[in-house]
Amino acid sequence: EAKAAGRGTYRQFERSMQTEAENRLRLEHDLRLALQLNQFRLFYQPLIDAQTQEVKGFEALIRWQHPVRGFVSPAEFVPLAEEIGLIHEMGEWVARTAIRDCAQWPSPISVAVNLSPIQLGSPGLPAMISDALSRAKLAANRLELEVTESVFLQDSEGSLDVLRRLRALGVRIALDDFGTGYSSLGYLNRTIFNKLKIDGSFVRGAATRSETVSIIQAIVTLANCFGMTITAEGVETQDDWRRMADLGCHQMQGYLFGRPVPFERATELVGTHWSEARRLASA
Ligand code: C2E
Ligand code: MG
Ligand code: MG
Ligand code: MG
Repeated sequence: EAKAAGRGTYRQFERSMQTEAENRLRLEHDLRLALQLNQFRLFYQPLIDAQTQEVKGFEALIRWQHPVRGFVSPAEFVPLAEEIGLIHEMGEWVARTAIRDCAQWPSPISVAVNLSPIQLGSPGLPAMISDALSRAKLAANRLELEVTESVFLQDSEGSLDVLRRLRALGVRIALDDFGTGYSSLGYLNRTIFNKLKIDGSFVRGAATRSETVSIIQAIVTLANCFGMTITAEGVETQDDWRRMADLGCHQMQGYLFGRPVPFERATELVGTHWSEARRLASA
């Protein structure tokens, strides 16, 4: 009887494996079509100056509106796009769209675009970015490119060369999600990065533990010596904001100021004070 039950469980297991594999295949198939079917959107989250509390720019965050599944999170489909090699085409769409959108905002409002480490493996990336900037007539210093420290893990020489060529265009380069991975201080290379983004998991609550405060202080001191702009990500409460501002962060980003919103909504936030921006974003 136990054996029979075991077989039943195994069949169930097999079935669920099969469903999972089918699901994945279908998602993969749908993802390949998503660009042609115009199912991707960019949402924009404001970056706030810690001193003046003005909106300095926006981070572009991709959204996929699937006709059946509804909203699919980038945490799910970006890794899939990387696996199936679609990330290059998708990344190009993101960069060109964000650059065109930013050109409609007044100077010096900037836009930040996330790059996958896979994209940095493509030597043609700087030429594509340069072409997108000139077509949209956007000054290079209004574009920021965000990469995570995973660029140091695979083919780092090739990737670092691509980053150097991007920076040579006059584009700013940000090290994203700092505090989550290896977070070696050796990654704070001033010849590559102009900006450091401290990860939200480090910012929220964590900033109450004294050892975490010391670590953030050390990172901020070093980044300041290198002339880098420091952004605190994932700022959700007034307390988070106050702590990170006291620790010397220059910019703030998080639900406290506003969630990612469509382009038209973001445009309404330009030129507003953050308290007003928050009211508009949550209205
Ligand atoms: P990320 O670049 O670190 O982006 C920040 C993420 O934190 C976003 O999630 C944002 O919505 C979320 N966030 C912002 N403020 C808060 C807050 O106060 N609290 C909390 N809990 N979360 C907050 P999202 O949009 O789901 O994106 C997740 C990740 O997907 C991004 O992390 C980025 O790594 C990746 N991603 C998004 N768009 C793109 C893209 O266009 N290209 C690539 N390659 N990756 C992208
Ligand atoms: Mg980012
Ligand atoms: Mg981040
Ligand atoms: Mg992140």
